[in-house]
Amino acid sequence: MTDTFLQGRTALVTGSTSGIGLAIARALANAGAQVAINGLGSQAQIDQARATVDAAGPGGTRHFDADLRDPEAIDAMMAELATWSKGGVDILVNNAGIQYAVPLHAMPVAKWNDILAINLSSAFHTMRSAMPAMAERGFGRVINVASVHGLVASKDKAPYVASKFGIVGLSKVAALEYAAQGSRASGGVTVNCICPGWVETPLIEPQIEARMAGGSRDDGIRALLSEKQPSLRMTLPEEIGALAVFLCRREAHNITGTAMPVDGGWTAQ
Ligand code: NAD
Repeated sequence: MTDTFLQGRTALVTGSTSGIGLAIARALANAGAQVAINGLGSQAQIDQARATVDAAGPGGTRHFDADLRDPEAIDAMMAELATWSKGGVDILVNNAGIQYAVPLHAMPVAKWNDILAINLSSAFHTMRSAMPAMAERGFGRVINVASVHGLVASKDKAPYVASKFGIVGLSKVAALEYAAQGSRASGGVTVNCICPGWVETPLIEPQIEARMAGGSRDDGIRALLSEKQPSLRMTLPEEIGALAVFLCRREAHNITGTAMPVDGGWTAQ
């Protein structure tokens, strides 16, 4: 039987029309939360994402179309969410992210700006808006989907690595500022990063294709894993969803300011 301990709670998951965000949105809904999704995509993709999240939980999922490069659009989304959730979301998952891999000297300035805006600044905007109400309620969870690239670097990913190190730092500051809010009984306000290694989603397709070398997609995946992820297994988006749900438990009140690798040993090397 599913434990619906998040019944009565509301959540926003950014970038949840696809990949890890969609899996987290489904997992939170499955635990009873009312979930707002956000992200780009065709109307069919958005409808499909909403239907999947509805099917996993209490229903009533809403899609917010804010483009996270635009601070004003984020503010408008957060204001609407405060009304929808009757006072502000209990769970904020900053997951949206993009990637572009070329050497530093060849990185287009527009890519740097977009990656920093989506992967880092959008979390600053959602957090500054959502966290004061979490403090008032004595319960709140901020889960930022960073990356192993928030802990170690790889070449050709300057803005991505900068944004992910940035979100780890931002999360630690917020964790300290809110650490004393609430109580064991209320669950407290915590801020953590999940730092995945390779997770099989559309985001890493170009990197798989680049390693196929005329072979199959499986060859490309094997080559990618063997470079850095010692388990030689991809993480599934659902496995990140399960960790996010655990972090929302009251028992997790003292897990804050962490950056948790889910990387098959990548950062242990
Ligand atoms: P994905 O491409 O499947 O999903 C990205 C989501 O972000 C989509 O919903 C997309 O619509 C949304 N998005 C992109 N630009 C946006 C914008 N301007 N405004 C609003 N939404 C926007 O990717 P994913 O692999 O699920 O990645 C999710 C997060 O996980 C990212 O932050 C990524 O950096 C991180 N991550 C992924 C991996 C991996 O191996 N897949 C590894 C480590 C970290």
